[in-house]
Parts: sequence; structure tokens; C-alpha cells
Amino acid sequence: MQYVSTRGKAPALSFDDVLLTGLARDGGLYLPESWPTFTPDEIRDMRGLSYADMAIRVMYPFVEGSIPEDDFAELVRDAYAGFDHPAVAPLKQLDSDQWVMELFHGPTLAFKDYALQLLGRLFDYVLKKRGEKVTIVGATSGDTGSAAIEACRDRECIDIFIMHPKGRVSDVQRCQMTTILSSNVHNIAVEGTFDDCQDAVKAMFNDMDFRDKLNLSAVNSINWARIMAQIAYYFWAGVQTGSPDREMRFSVPTGNFGNVFAGYCAKMMGLPIEGFIIGSNRNDILTRYFQTGVMKMETVEPSLSPSMDIQISSNFERLLAQHYDQDGSALTQALSQFRDTGEVDFGKERWEAMCKDFSAKKLDDEETKQAIRDFYERTGELLDPHSVIGCEAARVAAKADVVTISLATAHPAKFPAAVEDASGVHPALPERLADLFDREERFDVLENDLATIQSYIEKTLA
Ligand SMILES: *Cc1c(COP(=O)(O)O)cnc(C)c1O
Repeated sequence: MQYVSTRGKAPALSFDDVLLTGLARDGGLYLPESWPTFTPDEIRDMRGLSYADMAIRVMYPFVEGSIPEDDFAELVRDAYAGFDHPAVAPLKQLDSDQWVMELFHGPTLAFKDYALQLLGRLFDYVLKKRGEKVTIVGATSGDTGSAAIEACRDRECIDIFIMHPKGRVSDVQRCQMTTILSSNVHNIAVEGTFDDCQDAVKAMFNDMDFRDKLNLSAVNSINWARIMAQIAYYFWAGVQTGSPDREMRFSVPTGNFGNVFAGYCAKMMGLPIEGFIIGSNRNDILTRYFQTGVMKMETVEPSLSPSMDIQISSNFERLLAQHYDQDGSALTQALSQFRDTGEVDFGKERWEAMCKDFSAKKLDDEETKQAIRDFYERTGELLDPHSVIGCEAARVAAKADVVTISLATAHPAKFPAAVEDASGVHPALPERLADLFDREERFDVLENDLATIQSYIEKTLA
């Protein structure tokens, strides 16, 4: 499989190059040149497969030509072997036609593990074959750092440095990162804010000498391999609920548009999906776009669902590329207008075409708390402030006879304060993490100063 950039000016690449490159050199995102497809019979034939076996079947066409099938199968099985539910992504029925798929059974209790556990192993496999090493650097406001650390821990060809703002992440979030004592994991608590951490990462990537010397890399959400890994659980959910003989919809709490775009890929590959419901918090640029046809930037406001506090959903560019029919220059022009003026209209025809597949709903913090309480009282499900947005959007949009599957993207115990405040119930950590606060922590505190951070990284690697 070859991959092409959404902007149309970067060279086409193989899977392993796309994996290591991330962002294309023309500023675009990579997409497969064509969609592999599965016939209804081939989908029926997936019934009874384990999660890992289904994931191998769904993903292999994307890596074919880069990784032999047996090696790929081993990486996938190993990636999901440590998940704490035998189904990996269990489905629960909430109502006659409402289901929830729990995507929080990985090591850090959020759906990002489903992609990152595989990504870390793919990186290591490809790097080992090439005889290369990389240094991953990243900044976290608390929620995503642990998934990256768990993905990279103990990998031979990777060192990972994650910066968090000292004292500004929750205890659960900090301990999920700092209690990983692997020798290739380096936690830095920066005396500053999340923005300071992010600025330091950007500055390091812009320092070409530093970047080349350390072979800097990132595992951020624009990496195609993350989308690829997420496609698997849409097939999984579909097959468990009767695909291809029954249509379904998915409801997805959305930030960067990576998760819901993976669902769209599953549809392109032949899974009969009627449509997608996008859930947003007060940062509702996508909801406003689907309601008005105009994409208009506003400032990011903190909410109860911090992983969705985003104004520019970077993976939305991948959906746009499908609707610009490979016209990379027209898409580039529309996106630079958006960057420059904060507003863009991609055209009525494109908007109407996208509205056939997507609808959207926003919940503000009060509505989110109310929904947590309501779901708990009505169904007994304790939902985290991200997942509940998708579940409530699905409930409101319910259609008789259509199965709706809402994606639960985090375990409630990742956001204990908000959940307890809304429901009166303190969500307990799963047993394997019950002693999290008693474990030894390791991290270094650094001043908010680029030169200090860079020399710390160089010394640590030496
Ligand atoms: C990252 C994240 C999201 C948003 O997913 P996108 O792929 O960025 O749309 C939603 N919920 C949780 C808990 C997350 O960590």
C-alpha cells in the first residue's frame, strides 16, 4: 500500500515511511492511495474471531508490502494481550437499541491505548530492521502523556521524554506517568504551564541541529498508524451487533477528529454504517460547522472533558481531502484561509455531502454533569465526562430500529472529581491500579528554560 498527502505535494510513501514521518513534508496528512474493501460475505466471515484476529484481518491490507503477515500478526497479538478484558473492547447494551463500547481496558484507561500500544511496537519493529533509534519528545496537560509512555516503555529503539506542567496535573495523571520506571522513560516536571511545555517541544522540533542529532520524533494523533489501529474496533462493534445484515450508527465524543475519522474509514472499507454522531463540549467548532456550514474558530475554553478542548481538529483535513477529490491545492488554499482569517466555508455541496454522514451535538459542562447523573440513575452506568457526551448525543438522536453504538473513551476513574461531583459516586480505579499512589515515582523538575531542557535531554541520552 502507498500513501499520499492530503495537500498533494509530498512524495507518496510506503507504510513504514508514513509511520516514522507523521506529518507530510507539504504540511498535509497521509491517506492510503485507495481503500481496501471487504464484501458482506467477508464481513460475515469475521464472526467469532477474537479482537486481535479481527484487527489483523482489517489492518493487514494497510501494511502489506512493508511488514510480513506473520510478524504483523505477532505485533498485534502482543499489543492487545495486556488489556484487562477478554473481549478487549466489550460492548454493553444500555437500552433496546443503544449500546456502549468500552474502550478503556488498556494500561492507561483511555481509548488512545488501542492505537498507541500497537504504534510503539510498530515503531520498534521498523526501527530495529533499519538499525535506527528515535527520541520521542512530547508535552502533556495530563491526559495523553501516560498513553504515550506506556506505548514506548521498554522498547529497545525508543527513548521517550514527556514534559508536564509541575503541580498542574491531577494525582492520577501524574502517577500514571511517573511510576513507570523503565530506563527509556524520562518524565520532566516543568516549572511552568502546559503551554510552556508545548512551546518547548515546538522549539526543539524547529532546532534542526538538535532535531537531527537526536532523531526526534512524535507519536501524535496525526500519525496514520493511529487511525489504522482504531478502524479495527469499528469492525469489531459492527460484527458483534449483526453487521453486515444490520445497519448501525456510531456516536463519538470528538476532539481532534481522529477517532471518528477511523469510523469513516471503516465505512469506506465496506462496513454498513448509516452515519456518525459527533459529540462536543463547549469547544464546539465541529458542531457549529455541521449546523451552519461555516467553520469558525473561537478561543479554547477549559471544560470537564479536557481531551476535547480543541478548536482546530487536525484530522478533519483527512475528511475534507475525500470531499476535495484529491485537489490538494484547492484544499491547501481553503485551509490557509482558515488559518489567516479564522473562518472558512468549504462550499455548500461539500457541506451537504458531509452532512449525509455526520451530525453533531454539543453539551456544556452543566449538561454534561446532568447527563452523568441521568445515565447513572437510569442504566447504572457510571460514565466519564467525555464518554457521556457521546452517549447523551446518541440518546437524543435515537432512531427506532437502528443500533447506535456510543464509544466510551475513558474510564470514569480517570476523572474522579467530575464524576463524583455529578453522581455522588466515587469511581474506583480497577484493581490492577488500586495501589497506584503507593508506587515509587521518578521524575526530574526543570526550570522553564529551553536550553536547560535540551541539555538535560542530551545528558540523559549520553
Ligand atoms: C483524545 C480523547 C478524545 C478525543 O478523541 P479525538 O480522536 O481527538 O477526536 C475523547 N475522549 C478522550 C477520553 C480522549 O482521551
